[in-house]
Amino acid sequence: MKTAIYPGSFDPVTYGHLDVIQRASKIFDELTVSVLNNKTKSPLFSVEERVNILKEVTKDIPNVKIASYEGLLVDYAKQSGASVIIRGLRAITDFEYELQLAQTNHKLSPTVDTIFLTTGLEYAYLSSHTVKEVAAFGGDISQFVPDYVAGKIFEKYKMLKERTE
Ligand code: ADP
Repeated sequence: MKTAIYPGSFDPVTYGHLDVIQRASKIFDELTVSVLNNKTKSPLFSVEERVNILKEVTKDIPNVKIASYEGLLVDYAKQSGASVIIRGLRAITDFEYELQLAQTNHKLSPTVDTIFLTTGLEYAYLSSHTVKEVAAFGGDISQFVPDYVAGKIFEKYKMLKERTE
């Protein structure tokens, strides 16, 4: 059985991520989408919230599992029995960073390979960061994330606003 891991922040998941998830799920028998618990970043959603959001929006894809991890990605990949890491490529700007990451991971663990998938052009500009910026100012994010995710983002901003008032 060929298994792959798609790691990322997913803070929150966008249609760009979902496009990569859908494409990868057709290539591999099993795909684990895994939320990185990066303690040096201050995300909008907790790891648990991101995992739950991902579970909801991928519930119709049977061979996709959602998990979280911390520490070295290659160690996590080996523990999970996955020999392939999936990463998404948007514009040229992603390329340099992603190449460094893939080469480093391959040096650390030569049995683990990285496969890059591109999204449809309509999502090539899309990032969680931009979606949050638009939402923070009350903009329409319906083209960027599923309704369920948009609801969670606005709920979160409302709660944060109430907390500071
Ligand atoms: P971001 O916060 O920048 O959206 P993540 O860490 O959640 O990024 O992304 C995980 C992976 O998905 C990375 O390889 C990233 O390049 C990729 N990715 C994110 N958005 C897109 C998109 N719109 N199209 C293709 N790949 C994407």
